[in-house]
Amino acid sequence: MEFSQYNVNTLMQVTNRPPLVFTEGSGMWLTDNNGKRYLDYLQGWAVNCLGHAPECIADAASAQAKKLINPSPAFYNEPSIKLATLLTDNSCFDRVFFANSGAEANEGAIKLARKWGKVNKNANGENRYEIITFNHGFHGRTLATMSASGKAGWDTMFAPQVPGFPKAELNDIGSVEKLVSDKTVAVMLEPVQGEGGVLPASREFMQALRKLTTQRNLLLIVDEVQSGMGRTGELFAYQLSGIEPDIMTLGKGIGGGVPLAALLCREAVAVFEAGEQGGTYNGNPMMTAVGAAVLTELLKPGFMQSVRDKGEYLRAQLLKLSEKHGLQGERGEGLLRALRLGKDIGPKIVETARDMGPVGLLLNSPRSDLLRFMPALNVTTEEIDQMISMLSQVLTQLEN
Ligand SMILES: *Cc1c(COP(=O)(O)O)cnc(C)c1O
Repeated sequence: MEFSQYNVNTLMQVTNRPPLVFTEGSGMWLTDNNGKRYLDYLQGWAVNCLGHAPECIADAASAQAKKLINPSPAFYNEPSIKLATLLTDNSCFDRVFFANSGAEANEGAIKLARKWGKVNKNANGENRYEIITFNHGFHGRTLATMSASGKAGWDTMFAPQVPGFPKAELNDIGSVEKLVSDKTVAVMLEPVQGEGGVLPASREFMQALRKLTTQRNLLLIVDEVQSGMGRTGELFAYQLSGIEPDIMTLGKGIGGGVPLAALLCREAVAVFEAGEQGGTYNGNPMMTAVGAAVLTELLKPGFMQSVRDKGEYLRAQLLKLSEKHGLQGERGEGLLRALRLGKDIGPKIVETARDMGPVGLLLNSPRSDLLRFMPALNVTTEEIDQMISMLSQVLTQLEN
């Protein structure tokens, strides 16, 4: 079907999309309405941790759809208990609340911290509610999570903001200390800033944050919506720095592509009372059955080691490419990596790579001077080689 025959204007315009309609996906590959294939390094924005349309999701979704889709959040169901148990058995957390998007999980984390600050008041007997967040951080698109984010321009876009999110600088513990007041209840950060350009928090910084928050009786919240579920080569990125946070949020990879997210906390922090948190779709068996199937794959022996190996391979190939084309190197953790271009050619590369033939390459440029790579966690070395060779071709073309 020709693109012009699709009535795309029935959709609200919220982003500039290319004139393509995707109809099929398999592993690292997408196919558009003209039958053209694309090697996909976006993977639905780092959500398809097992690639497009993996067998285990098709099986879990169809089996659960035939069994029970939603008995309502007022009742227990088996898949949500199974997934919560898998998550608590494999992390430092004791309790799980399931949500439908990363933003919603973070909104829940903010509410949980504020509730905890009401239970654990300051020396003057006042509620604590301020959550220190970070410049260039990204936590979602609800009003509170936009306010918690440190994206340029977001403070005025839908003003007034939700108050109570002073901003510190990543990897600068002094900038955090300076903001702690008798109103502070928590510090919240991405262990690797994803949308901000794949900027990892250092091990030393994470350890200093843990020490500071413990000393000042503050909660440490990690937003692992992008960095969690094996993306960095550990099941959760906080494990890279050997610390234990109080609250964690998950999204993206947890559903392998379907809408699923989670809010996790330690027992002592699980202070919600009946009626304070909920939602119609929260913890529905349809999505949590898929989540359990995905996590079961990630937990198979050798899977995380293969993510680390592939991450190391991608790192080495990006460095070689950077040298060959005179770029500024690379950074990241595991299979969340960025190539630093040194000039604002990211969007041009994305467009040229997508439109090349006969096979296209889908890339992401969260900042105009870098490219971000977020392949499926089961990407093969051949698919990394193929991407590097296609990207090299694009760079050569743009140099001439
Ligand atoms: C994508 C993302 C979110 C928002 O998740 P949605 O599912 O889009 O609401 C929040 N935090 C981080 C770190 C993310 O990468």
